[in-house]
Amino acid sequence: MVAYVPTIGLEVHVQLKTRTKCFCSCPVVFGAEPNTATCPVCLGHPGSLPVLNREAYRLTLRTALALGCRIEERAVFDRKHYFYPDLPKGFQISQHFTAVGYDGHVTVWSEDGFRDIPVERVHLEEDTAKAIHEEAFVPPGKTYLDFNRCGVPLMEVVGYPAIANPAEARRYLVALRATLVETGVSDCDLEKGSFRIDTNISVRQEGTEEFGTPVEVKNLNSFRSVERALGYELERQSAVLEGGGEVARETRHWDERAEETYVSRTKEERADYRYFPEPDLPPLAVTEEFIDEAGVDLPSAPADRVKDLLVNYEVNVAEAETLAFAEGYYSFLKAAVERYAGDRRKVINWLLGDVTRELKERNVELPDSKLEPRALAEILTLLDDGKVNTPGAREILAAVLDGAGAPTDVMRKKGLEQVSDAGELEEIVRRAVEANPKAVADIRGGKEKAKGAIVGFVMKETGGRANPKLVGELIDTVMLDVD
Ligand SMILES: [Zn+2]
Repeated sequence: MVAYVPTIGLEVHVQLKTRTKCFCSCPVVFGAEPNTATCPVCLGHPGSLPVLNREAYRLTLRTALALGCRIEERAVFDRKHYFYPDLPKGFQISQHFTAVGYDGHVTVWSEDGFRDIPVERVHLEEDTAKAIHEEAFVPPGKTYLDFNRCGVPLMEVVGYPAIANPAEARRYLVALRATLVETGVSDCDLEKGSFRIDTNISVRQEGTEEFGTPVEVKNLNSFRSVERALGYELERQSAVLEGGGEVARETRHWDERAEETYVSRTKEERADYRYFPEPDLPPLAVTEEFIDEAGVDLPSAPADRVKDLLVNYEVNVAEAETLAFAEGYYSFLKAAVERYAGDRRKVINWLLGDVTRELKERNVELPDSKLEPRALAEILTLLDDGKVNTPGAREILAAVLDGAGAPTDVMRKKGLEQVSDAGELEEIVRRAVEANPKAVADIRGGKEKAKGAIVGFVMKETGGRANPKLVGELIDTVMLDVD
């Protein structure tokens, strides 16, 4: 069978974190009463004039700098014409001929190492009104429009079709989103629509140069659905080609429930938007001072964190991804490791295991929880020093998360201190051995597992606080005595 390889391109639209809209002074609001944040400019009234929001341009510039783009010296805007009710002017103000920046990259990671995915351009445009037809208050067959969103600053990051597989596409998005959140450019909330993903994917035979026909896939509401939708398309298009068919140029929608894509639009040729320079916005100079201002305190690339984790913490790629990008995990790990003298692998195991599970149960993010890095370090130290056993440590963790205070205090208050007194335990083990003649016979017969019954007895007697290692040793001694 011939192997097929995909080529994937991603375009991401991001709502910028500005107080006001892109070309007027209406506030940027989410979830407000429809059509309350509007004015003649964003409603496209004749004679109204746009004025560029400096902050929107600064945030786009900041993104371009964070992605390592070459910066254009002039800010120029164009009109993109089309007729649709969500944009009453009949055109969208965008940047067609000159973007804010070109030729950047997003660094992604995989089991094979690191790779720079090239970014073609970063530009600024205005968002459209929101069409509402699925809400209960909209009569069947009607569409309502909310113009609060019309004119909100929208940045587009256009990537080259250079992504090699669906997992890489997901990682590109993870890295890009982290960059945009950490630079303070956008909150990148997929549910609120402030981070929207368009993908295109083509498939060709392995070893051939020519790209296949690209298919656009839309309605991708999570990074996971991006990966799955692209995986589905890779299989579907490969099967079409394998069967001697041709892949149609079309737009498809991802159906999350059915886990498949379906045709939503067949596109014969690109629409002619008749772009031309926006006469109401004269070109502005992008000065060195403005570039310096936009690029101040840029955070390091998200992939650097993954690299640090892979190199210095000996985790695998999946673990590195969680530790690098789950909210607050990376700084927590660093701080906890600094305060803990033991094996850092233990910190990682607890963070990815018990801590994550307890947070999920409480539906709280790590930075908002009551757990401080020093508390986790303290719990692990109590465990290492034999002061508590593992179930006891888990109970302390849960109590700390519920606001019970410092781990050592919790241990004392709850009486979780481990019984490591050999004399005290030996007496209990002796009784356990006497009470379980069958287990004793089984152990003698070579069934190590039978020790469980005796350990269970001791744990019950001590309220779960016995040092299990010591109990195991004592069982051996006591049984020798009984001989
Ligand atoms: Zn307005």
